[in-house]
Amino acid sequence: MKAAIFKGPYELHVDEYSLPKIEKSQVLIKVDLCGLCGTDFHIFSGEAPSKPPVIPGHEYVGTVVDKDYRVDGLSIGDHVAIDPNIYCGECYYCRHGKINFCTNLKALGVTLNGGFAEYSIVPSSQAYHIPKDLSFTSAAFAEPLSCCVHGMDQASIKLGESVGIIGGGTIGLMMIQLVKISGAGKIILIEPVKFKREMAAKLGADYTFDPNSENINTQISELTSGGPDVIIECVGKSEATNLALKLTKKGGRIIVFGLSEKKDTMSINLQNFFHKELDIKGSLLNPFTFARSVELIASKKVNVEAFNPVLFKLDNLREVLNNKRDLSVIKYQISPN
Ligand SMILES: [Zn+2]
Ligand SMILES: [Zn+2]
Repeated sequence: MKAAIFKGPYELHVDEYSLPKIEKSQVLIKVDLCGLCGTDFHIFSGEAPSKPPVIPGHEYVGTVVDKDYRVDGLSIGDHVAIDPNIYCGECYYCRHGKINFCTNLKALGVTLNGGFAEYSIVPSSQAYHIPKDLSFTSAAFAEPLSCCVHGMDQASIKLGESVGIIGGGTIGLMMIQLVKISGAGKIILIEPVKFKREMAAKLGADYTFDPNSENINTQISELTSGGPDVIIECVGKSEATNLALKLTKKGGRIIVFGLSEKKDTMSINLQNFFHKELDIKGSLLNPFTFARSVELIASKKVNVEAFNPVLFKLDNLREVLNNKRDLSVIKYQISPN
């Protein structure tokens, strides 16, 4: 089969790859679509824990075309979305229900072969049924949305609370919708790109701000009687978390959701932190949230069709990774077959 193989930093080649035989509890998936995300750029530049050679791509959906005879939960022809994160079930964290901290965590498309290929072999536990009438285009958002669902669990938003979201990419635009579902009061998006602000307004943001325009801190503070109760940082840069520290209301909560670069650090004014009684939390991966994510997409409670992904072929993957991201595109998806 054809696959994009990561062979070292900035080395990604589309080559023939011979699939091994299916082993115990595995299924063979014909990959229909695989989303491209920030993590793939981290892998491409050598920042992720991916040991070459490996096939990246962790946001994928497809059809079951073969399976180990012992697998009963799935049938040939089923449409599935793949949860890439495989936990061991035996380490300290797994035994305490905190599978996202698993010390032996493996991930399809990061440390194991993933979805930038015509086919992918996955443990049956990682494949989630999706309804046949749900498009693969929409279902391919199940993985990033499952991470957002965990972010929302971390934020535990109460009815009527004001929420600020920093960053209006795929993640920010999904967060806005989840925040709206959660019964938040005012929903505020901070994002420099105009068309993303416009899309955010359509998807549920009550107010949108360009971080480069003047006085946004004062305006947001006035709108929310001193700042949002909760801020969800969806950029992955210290500037964004710094902005969250400035904006959040006293007693407020900050969720650091975006994945920043390894070298990115920041300093916090401890008196400000003390006086505001800030609650700052990270959000890592998608522990037990994948089925809920599929449900939210299948029931159309979260509108992912609005994102209009730009499709490209496996052969063009390298080109997309090499070029600076086109700001008018919310999501790229590759169709390997
Ligand atoms: Zn991703
Ligand atoms: Zn574990």
